Amino acid sequence: MVVPVYNEEECLPAFHRELSAILRSQVEPYEIVYVDDGSQDRSLELVESLRLSDPNVRAVVLTRNFGHQLALTAGLEFSRGEAVVTMDADLQHPPSLIPRMLAEWRKGARVVSTVRTDTEDIGACKRLTSRLFYGLINALSRTPVQPDAADFRLLDRGAVETLRSMKERHRFLRGMIGWLGLPEAVIEFSAGRRAAGASKYTWARMFSFAADGIVSFSTLPLKAALILGSLALGLCGLYAGYVVYMFAFHGVLLIKGWASTVLLTMFLGGCQLILLGVTGEYIGRIYEEIKARPLFLVRELRGFAGRAPEPGR
Ligand code: UDP
Ligand code: MG
Repeated sequence: MVVPVYNEEECLPAFHRELSAILRSQVEPYEIVYVDDGSQDRSLELVESLRLSDPNVRAVVLTRNFGHQLALTAGLEFSRGEAVVTMDADLQHPPSLIPRMLAEWRKGARVVSTVRTDTEDIGACKRLTSRLFYGLINALSRTPVQPDAADFRLLDRGAVETLRSMKERHRFLRGMIGWLGLPEAVIEFSAGRRAAGASKYTWARMFSFAADGIVSFSTLPLKAALILGSLALGLCGLYAGYVVYMFAFHGVLLIKGWASTVLLTMFLGGCQLILLGVTGEYIGRIYEEIKARPLFLVRELRGFAGRAPEPGR
């Protein structure tokens, strides 16, 4: 199990209790890798006390908050299971689904994904933007991205190793897993409310997560400039022809009002700035990728016998 934890002191004890009850009912030996993603509350102390009372618990302590997707990446890096399940610590991902995931894995699925059919917690606005986002990314990218996919999934050891070899910094795991193209099973579940506390995904974080998804899986937005530019040039040519024709054959010099001129200038200026911004999104990410810094930094590993902390990859 890989569980990213960021300020989850209210959820952790109940989460661990529920998860362990389910895991103990399975035959396989298991380990739970909690990744402390720079929590400022008592989460780390709680993880430590869980670890002291439960030999199946390990802790990966990151130096600061790296974000959900990188915390998951860190957990996968140090996980050792033949099958690894990633899930959130707030009980929005029901541990009771794990036996079914394992059953799918034994039947041959290399990846078992889960899809939220309903989330009690989210408002109309999040629902709408989420639908828009999945529509957009699937229209723009050739890699299929399952709408409403959760980061609650089982990965076979092979899938984990392949993901580990993919070193991109702006990680959009849902897309990366679709990109692998491994035999996949999908299980539906209805996500309940958070056990306690508030969602760590602010609007700004959600926006940058969406941008990561689109920029990492499609270069089509870059081509928008080409399409729009050609269209504008074509229209411009037609209009120029019309002006010349009217002057040469009818002696009419076309002079039209301000409104059209101003609107046209504003329209083209707006398009140019937006497309410049789109290009900037790509360039910014190229810049961050070529710096090739480690994806995350580990301050401490606890409970991994014989394994020294190594910098992240
Ligand atoms: N999380 C994390 N680092 C962050 C933000 C979140 O490790 O910077 C963890 C968090 O503790 C939880 C999971 O990622 O276990 C999902 O976060 P959250 O429940 O806030 O997201 P939501 O369910 O609202 O999408
Ligand atoms: Mg949650």
